Amino acid sequence: MNAKPRGRQFFQNPGPTNIPDRVLRAMDRATLDFLSDEFMDIHRYCHAGVKRVLKTQQTLFMYASSGHGAWEASLANLFVPGDKLLMLESGYFSESWEQMARNLGIEIETIRCDWRHGIRIADVAARLAADKSHAIKAVMTVQNETATGLATPIAEVRRAIDEAKHPALLLVDTISSLGCYDFRMDAWGVDVAVGGSQKGLMMPTGLSFTGVSQKALDLSKKATAPRHYWNWEMMTRREPQSFVGTTPVHLFYALQESLKLIDEEGLDAIFARHRRLAEATRAAVAHWNGGVSGGASCDAKGIAGPVKAPEMFCADPARVSDSVTGVIVPDGHDANAFRSVAVNRYNLSLGGGLGPLMGRVFRIGHMGDLNEPMLLGALATVELALRTAKIPFEAGGVDAAIRALAA
Ligand SMILES: *Cc1c(COP(=O)(O)O)cnc(C)c1O
Repeated sequence: MNAKPRGRQFFQNPGPTNIPDRVLRAMDRATLDFLSDEFMDIHRYCHAGVKRVLKTQQTLFMYASSGHGAWEASLANLFVPGDKLLMLESGYFSESWEQMARNLGIEIETIRCDWRHGIRIADVAARLAADKSHAIKAVMTVQNETATGLATPIAEVRRAIDEAKHPALLLVDTISSLGCYDFRMDAWGVDVAVGGSQKGLMMPTGLSFTGVSQKALDLSKKATAPRHYWNWEMMTRREPQSFVGTTPVHLFYALQESLKLIDEEGLDAIFARHRRLAEATRAAVAHWNGGVSGGASCDAKGIAGPVKAPEMFCADPARVSDSVTGVIVPDGHDANAFRSVAVNRYNLSLGGGLGPLMGRVFRIGHMGDLNEPMLLGALATVELALRTAKIPFEAGGVDAAIRALAA
């Protein structure tokens, strides 16, 4: 057996993400009674803090679950089997949320897209305008498609709904964008914003939440689908609000500390840092590509070639994600074999392709607790592993990233 590589692992997955030492230390603390005054103060601080990050003054419910639980809460409280929703496809995560809705008996119509470019807003506007009877109860979308590194412009989706004068609710998954780039629940008229702890919020997995608009809250009171653990009405009656079962106090210690870190840096500065690091990553990928394959050399799901050099999965510069970058590997190479070299030989952990992109794509996460030396170390090690795996690329991507950071 080979020995494990020495040194600290460079963890560059797009979720879960690096947990800052301060957040880890904050959890090294005795349990508190979750009904005690001492804990209530922490709970109140966290509740207000998450609402600040969501940019909402409306209602917030939290769950002891991963993001999937908050997805389910958003559906279980608002819809009954047979209701019709409109899903805006973005990739693997929109498909998963859609599948969950189907499993709950909800009818889903999907606005399809080319995964490398994302949905066309005009398609959303046209579909809603055609729905004269207002059969569509909600529009669902994923702000940051973590599987590919593509962002859906939520304000534009809102505008399309308004222009069609359609009363549909707007449900948005912000799990891998919140705390990474801008999201404005109230200003963008989002009715349910789904979030989770282990991405931009720099925490362990296990805490998720939904921001809920007054309109959605009113509708949920009339909805008749059976629900229990996710039941917003039961949560509203509890003190502290949320959690039908035990409140996960240690996750609140972590959340309190991560919110302090967010407040100290400031959301705008955090977004600017993510933008800077994302642009450096994109500069490196563009350089590795060497202009060989342009950006339009393979089909919507990135499967058909020819791809001759590493290439950005997201082919629309206006839709690139500031929290994760998906990279297509050249034809004849396996992204997972490359990832194995990166982690087993060099201790760099990267994300893999999901669903149909498995083996075709690797992902560089650049969200959460990250700075320039961490990113440059990761990009340099990607180059090293590309060389080791004998994947063709144009050397010098790290210099391109440095130039982008210094600009
Ligand atoms: C990670 C992620 C999820 C799934 O969340 P879990 O915490 O793994 O349940 C959903 N949507 C997006 C966009 C994600 O990045």
